[in-house]
Amino acid sequence: MKGMVLTAPKDVSARDVGQPAPGDGETLVRVAKTGICGTDLKIYQGGIPVDYPRIMGHESVGEVVSGGTLAPGTSVIVDPAYFCGTCFQCRNGQMHICPNGGLIGRDVDGGFAEYLVAPSDNVHALPDGMDVTHAPLIQPMTTCLHAQRLAKIFPGEAVIVIGLGVTGLLHVQLAKAHGAYPVIGITRSKWKRDLAEELGADLTIDPAADVKAQVIEATGDRGGADLVIESVGQLSIVAQAIDLVRIGGRILPFGILTVTEGELPFYDLYFKEIQVVNARVAKPEDFPACIDFVQRGIVDLGPLITDVVPLMEMNTALDMLEDGKGIKIILDHAA
Ligand SMILES: [Zn+2]
Ligand SMILES: [Zn+2]
Repeated sequence: MKGMVLTAPKDVSARDVGQPAPGDGETLVRVAKTGICGTDLKIYQGGIPVDYPRIMGHESVGEVVSGGTLAPGTSVIVDPAYFCGTCFQCRNGQMHICPNGGLIGRDVDGGFAEYLVAPSDNVHALPDGMDVTHAPLIQPMTTCLHAQRLAKIFPGEAVIVIGLGVTGLLHVQLAKAHGAYPVIGITRSKWKRDLAEELGADLTIDPAADVKAQVIEATGDRGGADLVIESVGQLSIVAQAIDLVRIGGRILPFGILTVTEGELPFYDLYFKEIQVVNARVAKPEDFPACIDFVQRGIVDLGPLITDVVPLMEMNTALDMLEDGKGIKIILDHAA
């Protein structure tokens, strides 16, 4: 089969590779569409180390070929997080952070190829009629839902989302689904602010404006948001989240911080008694929940997709990701 193979940092090309064969408890999937994201870009650039050669891709949708209990031809999405099932975390219901686990598309070969093998438990059926170009976004959406489950949004709570890229726009929609009010989006980009409002944000703020004053006005006597979701991955934005959260509120540093040192207003963390909620990947139950949210129209994925690129032109997609102009790029395996 043809696959896009990463042989060294910044070196990915189409190659003929052996078709993967499903073992016991595994399913072979013919891949139709795979989302590409910042994690793939970091692996490509060498920032996230992998063994070479590696086929990336962890946001794949396709159809069952063989293995598992789903009928061949069933439209499916693959949960890329695999786990051992026997360690303390797995027995404790925290299989998503299993120390023996990993990510399909990073630690083993993933979806940027004609076929993909995954544990059958990780293969979730998609309802008839679900758009397979939109469906790869369900994977990043599960990580947002998992994080919001941990952050425990109560109806009527004020939620701020800083950064309105893919995950920021998903957080806005999920916070609305949780009954948050107001949901406030913050980003420099005017068109992303407009899109956030179309997708349900009650208010959006340009960071060039007086953000704090507008948050105080919008949140009344709370004096800040109950929850601030940082969806950028910069330490300075975490500091801003600490500033914009109310006394006794929570912050969720969702954008992945890779810096190993830096400054934060630690005294404010203490004095405001702020809870810091961390969340990594998603749990198996987040897949059926997100599939259901999309199927029922509670979360709209279509407007987040700005580009569809043929799989074989993955280098173009990586350049576009580096430019950061669009929102979500989907790779089309049939094109
Ligand atoms: Zn991703
Ligand atoms: Zn485990």
